[in-house]
Amino acid sequence: MSKVEDFLSGKEEEEIVEAIRQAERETSGEIRVHIEKTTPIPHYDRALEVFQMLKMFNTKQQNGVLLYIAVDDHKFVIYGDEGIDKVVPKDFWKTTRTTIEKHFKSGSFKEGIIAGILKAGQELKVHFPWQINDEDELPNEISKG
Ligand code: CA
Ligand code: CA
Repeated sequence: MSKVEDFLSGKEEEEIVEAIRQAERETSGEIRVHIEKTTPIPHYDRALEVFQMLKMFNTKQQNGVLLYIAVDDHKFVIYGDEGIDKVVPKDFWKTTRTTIEKHFKSGSFKEGIIAGILKAGQELKVHFPWQINDEDELPNEISKG
């Protein structure tokens, strides 16, 4: 059985989608989660590939954030588009990583993912506040490779 299917329960997935919705209620930024089993290429490169595959560059303000997880490899990458990268504090990606890692290390995957989403949301909110004409530019559902 693929570990991707075992990684999160249906209920946990719902909670994650809800966290994305909650984060996006306060920012125009777009957050996505992609989970797959493994990849033969470096994880950062793969995250970038997935970012393109999911057409995450298609946001007006270039403010998409992808949390990429390779379950069997025990690796994850948090990747943000240029618009965000330009404005967030230098240590933002590192501190978000640390937040997620802390939960992952104790096996709390759902908690880690949600903590990462909410942390990214808080930062996005500062630079890309939600606006009345905001659109949900990217689906909130978890994608699987
Ligand atoms: Ca939006
Ligand atoms: Ca969205």
